[in-house]
Amino acid sequence: MSDLGTVERPLRAAIIGSGPAGFYAAEHLLKRNDANRAGPGREAEEPARIEVDVFDRLPTPFGLVRAGVAPDHPKIKSVIRVYEKTAARDGFRFFGNVDVGRDVTVPELAERYDAIVYAYGTPTDRQLGIPGENLPGSHPATEFVAWYNAHPDFAGAAFDLDCERAVVIGNGNVAADVTRMLVLPRPELAVTDTADHAIDGLAGSGVCEVVVLGRRGPAQAAFTNPEVRELGELTEADIVVDPAEVELDELSRSELASEEADPTSKRNVELLTGFSRREPEGKPKRVVMRFLRSPVEIQGDGKVERLVVAVNELHRDENGAIRARDTGEREVIECGLVLRSIGYKGVSLGGTPFDERRGVIPNDAGRVIDPDAGGEQVPGHYAVGWIKRGPSGVIGTNKKDAAETVQSLLADLEAGAVPTREPIEPGIEELLAQRAPEAVSYEGWTAIDRAEVAAGEPHGRPRAKFCRVAEMVEAARAGEPVRG
Ligand code: NAP
Repeated sequence: MSDLGTVERPLRAAIIGSGPAGFYAAEHLLKRNDANRAGPGREAEEPARIEVDVFDRLPTPFGLVRAGVAPDHPKIKSVIRVYEKTAARDGFRFFGNVDVGRDVTVPELAERYDAIVYAYGTPTDRQLGIPGENLPGSHPATEFVAWYNAHPDFAGAAFDLDCERAVVIGNGNVAADVTRMLVLPRPELAVTDTADHAIDGLAGSGVCEVVVLGRRGPAQAAFTNPEVRELGELTEADIVVDPAEVELDELSRSELASEEADPTSKRNVELLTGFSRREPEGKPKRVVMRFLRSPVEIQGDGKVERLVVAVNELHRDENGAIRARDTGEREVIECGLVLRSIGYKGVSLGGTPFDERRGVIPNDAGRVIDPDAGGEQVPGHYAVGWIKRGPSGVIGTNKKDAAETVQSLLADLEAGAVPTREPIEPGIEELLAQRAPEAVSYEGWTAIDRAEVAAGEPHGRPRAKFCRVAEMVEAARAGEPVRG
């Protein structure tokens, strides 16, 4: 019987990605090191011994909590306090600024760890597949989000904010986030942790109308209720909804009336119907929500000038799902900026099976499986979060998701089905010293954190974010012990 997972031979897990899924997985694993004390009718259990190394390609942890959540939603970011407790646990280490796939490969990690947990999310965007999609002025909303959140890969990105009308394609919460950010006034931006470059760009923006396009109807929108409500509470922008476009067709009406109706969708329809009854208050900007409209072509002479949209109707497909169908009718929306907010997509890091169509790692309850080998488990490899299930749900969804994956891993450990890695030279520390000499430890991150918070404080901001990796590494070095 293997002694893997004991004090004599701890289980060593590498988690790739330090967003919510990675941190919840680390927490579920490390809490197994707590002694399960004896209680009434229960004997004390031998605690497991697990060590977790979390890798991130950025020097900063927390994934989309730092680089995705909208800056005007600071409360959502307070979940970081939970992750800080995990990071303080015995057995936790962070290796930031290490790009798995470039600095160190998955097979190299697999030689050095008993278990690999993929938690790197879905870093790219889905494509519309329409002509003109890549004209200058048409961007994935994910890039706009990364730009205003000071993600170092997008600090130098440029968005044409001189135009009067922007179109946001999609009816999800990312679409709601970018729409708000496009119309927030300077005083509201200035108290957030929005990247400095984006505060200047957004506050000086000429955009006075944002059109939000949903390909289906209001009953099928993916927004959650607070995000819809907020669109009606913007200080500088009126909300405009055409009553004819929120009037439900027969399919949507019967779906909402059914017992299985989603309460979020019902409430969304009520909120949107309420908006359609409002008279504009004469605010300087407008958010116009359109439904049953699909983009079919982005046109312009060297840059975005207009969007051609199809007018849709709803129908039930062979599986009973309500889908949009092109009626053949076309409309043209003049605009200078298009943000395509139609969802994120995962990519392969190499070294593990990958479902290219869905953009996820194939898995069974978090255990990576190989469809080319009859769906057999890849021993010691696990997936969690968006790269496991696709880009859906809110931050908290990942807690349950991580619990499932860790349960699978621990069951495998118990069953002796996690392979025990023999020691190999160079070990991970030496390998990283050669390949990623600028790697940032958790201590280094806390130094970055302190520097950002100190820079934001005099301006009443939660933090002023660094947006270049070199600045982050410099701040981290100031807080890390000098290495011998
Ligand atoms: P999402 O919720 O999946 O929404 C994607 C939207 O794009 C849907 O409205 C979808 O319409 C539309 N779409 C997809 N393909 C399209 C096409 N070819 N043409 C036109 N429209 C198309 O994705 P997301 O907004 O990127 O959000 C990702 C996840 O993060 C979600 O779970 C979201 O709730 C979460 N999130 C949460 C918050 C928050 O809690 N505040 C903030 C941001 C993100 P169909 O429904 O017709 O497919």
